[in-house]
Amino acid sequence: MLMLSENVSLLSHNTLKLQANARWYAELHKPADITDLRSDPRVKQLPMTILGEGSNVVLHADIPHLVVRPLMRGKAIIEALEDGALIECQAGENWDDLVRWSLDQGLYGLENLSLIPGSVGAAPYQNIGAYGVELSDLLDSVMACSVVDGHCRRFTRDQCCFGYRDSFFKSHEPGQWLVTSIRLRLSRYPRLRLEYADLQHRFESLPESQKTPEGLRSLIIALRMSKLPDPAELANVGSFFKNPVVNEQLYSQLRQRFPDLVAFSQGGGHYKLAAGWLIEKAGWKGRRLGSVGMHEKQALVLVNYGGATAAEVQELAAAVVQSVWALFAVLLEQEPVNFPVL
Ligand SMILES: Cc1cc2nc3c(=O)[nH]c(=O)nc-3n(C[C@H](O)[C@H](O)[C@H](O)COP(=O)(O)OP(=O)(O)OC[C@H]3O[C@@H](n4cnc5c(N)ncnc54)[C@H](O)[C@@H]3O)c2cc1C
Repeated sequence: MLMLSENVSLLSHNTLKLQANARWYAELHKPADITDLRSDPRVKQLPMTILGEGSNVVLHADIPHLVVRPLMRGKAIIEALEDGALIECQAGENWDDLVRWSLDQGLYGLENLSLIPGSVGAAPYQNIGAYGVELSDLLDSVMACSVVDGHCRRFTRDQCCFGYRDSFFKSHEPGQWLVTSIRLRLSRYPRLRLEYADLQHRFESLPESQKTPEGLRSLIIALRMSKLPDPAELANVGSFFKNPVVNEQLYSQLRQRFPDLVAFSQGGGHYKLAAGWLIEKAGWKGRRLGSVGMHEKQALVLVNYGGATAAEVQELAAAVVQSVWALFAVLLEQEPVNFPVL
């Protein structure tokens, strides 16, 4: 039964733990709930903001319209493929539960994306990625419904226009489509992805019996837990900035000035720089401004020590961007989404 609530606090709905209220709030259990909301006179004309588990949003102020939380559940193997299976998962499932479930089914491919927080529905929005694998590597298609009139359509992988932390849903028609389910092509045969030197090195030191997809998942979970603060203990939204991509000329200049520069070639004369390294070099690792700071173990993660305001978050983020610009002439771009859109 669709429930529409008024003036709901979103404090427990965002992992950065910023206080903001939604004027209207509804939890969706099936795609048709969107059509029902669009015929409710109280909210039918209002903009609709989609909130998953709130692990990649910055709430700057109250949201003066309608916030919806997709809670559709279910995951299933829907078709056997020659070397694996096509699976379908509903948007309200937790991402890491899906990764664990897929391994339990003997289906491989998602191991490197273990322990990424958030919902399945949000995963295509920014094309989640970690340790050399992105969602788009495994994705078959996405089912999404228009927030304007509720009509639903299937997007093929190509139609999703995936890029680095980017998709059709994020950049082409932002906020216009609510993902209700995704389909993934997974393999029955493990093909372990160990492109990250650190990961490969650690994996090779495992006992033979643990050199399996499950062993890789456990290794990645341990690595993530040692490097990233758990939002349940210290409020954060993971990486606060994207890794910037620069051209050959700037890369060469920086490499001369900073021989220890951390960079990855992207081909075509482009290099992705490690934003965490830039921020650390600019002196922000472990530095605190009031209730917020850049984490002591991972400078890329902005943390709320308790009771922070959105203004404090904005002030710190702006100061970090300014320092990195002054030192490297590289502009950092925020990764989490601002609500309401600034
Ligand atoms: C500790 C930590 C570590 C992280 N590590 C990684 C990482 O390694 N790699 C990575 O890629 N990300 C990482 N993140 C970011 C985050 O986990 C992902 O962005 C995740 O997909 C967000 O899911 P969510 O349900 O919390 O989305 P939310 O934060 O609620 O929403 C994020 C965006 O997605 C949109 N959205 C949500 N659900 C839907 C839907 N059903 N349909 C359409 N749009 C939707 C929202 O409108 C919003 O714009 C990390 C975050 C934290 C806190």
